[in-house]
Amino acid sequence: MVVLLGSGAREHALSWKLTRDGATVHVLPGNGGIPNSHPEINPLDFPAVQRFCDEVGSKLIVVGPEAPLAAGVSDYFAATDIKVFGPSRAAAVLESSKVWSKSFMRRHGVATAKSWQYRSDKFADARAKAQDLDGQVVVKYDGLAAGKGVYVCSSVQEAEAALDDLQAQYTGWFSFLLEEKLSGPEISIIGVTDGYRIRLLAPSQDHKQLLAGDQGPNTGGMGAYCPVPFADDNVLAAIRRDIIDPTLQGIQVEQFDFKGFLYFGIMLSPQGPKLLEYNVRLGDPEAEVLLPALDSSLLELIESTLNGSLARVGVRHRPGFYVGVVLASGGYPAANFPTGFPIHGLDQVHPSTLVFHGATRRQDDGQMVTNGGRVLVLVAHGRELEDAVAQAYKECEKVTFQDAYFRTDIGQRPAPVLAG
Ligand code: ATP
Repeated sequence: MVVLLGSGAREHALSWKLTRDGATVHVLPGNGGIPNSHPEINPLDFPAVQRFCDEVGSKLIVVGPEAPLAAGVSDYFAATDIKVFGPSRAAAVLESSKVWSKSFMRRHGVATAKSWQYRSDKFADARAKAQDLDGQVVVKYDGLAAGKGVYVCSSVQEAEAALDDLQAQYTGWFSFLLEEKLSGPEISIIGVTDGYRIRLLAPSQDHKQLLAGDQGPNTGGMGAYCPVPFADDNVLAAIRRDIIDPTLQGIQVEQFDFKGFLYFGIMLSPQGPKLLEYNVRLGDPEAEVLLPALDSSLLELIESTLNGSLARVGVRHRPGFYVGVVLASGGYPAANFPTGFPIHGLDQVHPSTLVFHGATRRQDDGQMVTNGGRVLVLVAHGRELEDAVAQAYKECEKVTFQDAYFRTDIGQRPAPVLAG
């Protein structure tokens, strides 16, 4: 029996996979399309979560999003006989503070972009540094900023504007980073770790921007695919050596209690792989392609992480490629857009295509309606990447709701030329 916290398509994929692995899964709060959802329970109300676990007799909580981790769900349950798959609040700072995670990378020799840290009374110094670097910098606000705290700049004017914006948006004392701007393709590497060992899922790529060709505003992610053809054994060996192994050593040296998913956002720069960021959870939409691709039991991976036997468990993947396309509400990612539109055609989707619900609600009359920005993720499989892409888009045409929007180029970036 597993209690899963969260409400998006990532949690639907987790619940689907754990159910296939033989678990009974309850999702708090879940959504209209996730079986055993419990919308009345707030996953940040830990006493309520505990009461629910006691009622259904669950001794295992799996955490989807970051918020419950940053709020200390693992620490809260440490004093109980219920185990939580997700890092402690102290370890979650790897994601929640960019300044802190950058200094962790430095302390432990993790390959990353050069950076300079400033307090909010030192904007003049930051402006001078940006000038020195000819504006080829990335400005990053320290802390969670809903994707709006990162400015990738290509000129002194852009860097000035980014610093102006930061200064105008945030008041009081805060910290920020200037980073050297790197170039190269990005990949996501996600593993299950007990803080000593890590079992890696397939390399994946997401598509953050709203519009085709990686244009337009950033979103939570408009689609993903795995595995990534250019992430070959050489690339993965360099990532292990320069990023993953030093990270695990750092976690041990700093005595973090880290049992959960660890996500490495990596740029394959001409100087080798560089870590852009950690997340302390599965990515969304990466989870929606990674979990179908995982042939091994996720339940076994999670249980062995928690009981100290991860060393005995390996990871197998299914052959072929998985592509996930997000069907979003028109207007997303703006703050406000209409929802509540009926969703049609779900019963037309080919049985080999997975439909993960991100933001749906079932009305009293049984009709499924839209209930947020990223409504559904359709995931198709193919022997080759192009086959999976073609299948995913064939299925996307069948599912309709008012103002539905999806990117038309998921999984179709041109293959990069990698240095070395
Ligand atoms: P996310 O939404 O991925 O969690 P975030 O707000 O936590 O993003 P980062 O992952 O640090 O911020 O950066 C967001 C994006 O900015 C990266 O995916 C990358 O495209 C770009 N970026 C970040 N750092 C650099 C860098 N040093 N050089 C070039 N591009 C960068």
